[in-house]
Amino acid sequence: MIQDKETLRTNLDSVLWNLEEARLKVSDHHIVKLVVVGKYTEIENISTLYSLGQRAFGENQVQQLKERMVQLENLPLEWHMIGSLQKNKINNLIDLHPVLMHSLDSLSLAEELNKKLEAKNSTMQCLLQINAANEESKSGFDSDEAYDKYQQIIETCPAIKLKGVMTIGAHTTDERLIKESFETTHSIYEKLEKDSASICSMGMSGDYELAIACGSNLIRVGSAIF
Ligand SMILES: *Cc1c(COP(=O)(O)O)cnc(C)c1O
Repeated sequence: MIQDKETLRTNLDSVLWNLEEARLKVSDHHIVKLVVVGKYTEIENISTLYSLGQRAFGENQVQQLKERMVQLENLPLEWHMIGSLQKNKINNLIDLHPVLMHSLDSLSLAEELNKKLEAKNSTMQCLLQINAANEESKSGFDSDEAYDKYQQIIETCPAIKLKGVMTIGAHTTDERLIKESFETTHSIYEKLEKDSASICSMGMSGDYELAIACGSNLIRVGSAIF
């Protein structure tokens, strides 16, 4: 559905105000980036959000990311890949040069991505995805192995530029468990700051304020806006 500008303005403003309030509770200096997730919406709504000042957008499928990047190439947008990357889509993603890939979720994907990046003489900024609540339905590294695997990827995959971590909050209505999954991820992030991790990507429409309270500095929000 194509939404009118005033509706999108109201929704965007409300997320930005909540973001602001949540980050100031952490610190004046705690800056949080908003990536708007467009996967549920029409491309027209993305253009409208651009006209309202939003620049960073995320998609979870390479094909859709590509179509939108091409159609909106005249706008100075910043594109994030946030969904699971199938191995047969790696080359397509590399050619798109997303600003950040949030979902590096296995060692075999890292090795394959690195190989294909090297073949194209390219690099990609990535986040290590952590399955912090150890949910079977989710991909990502277990929290107890994430730190070591991060080091291993730095050593063995030079074309992958690791910039931090990403998690999807525990899938439950129990706020304690969601908070725990964010805290676990943030504590891994803090240990990795010495390895130049600077991005802790966590928080979606239902839990971004909690994520910010737990130290997130990048939230990925879709349904609260569209
Ligand atoms: C869809 C998606 C989001 C946004 O979800 P909302 O709950 O609609 O805000 C964030 N991150 C990832 C990885 C997603 O797939």
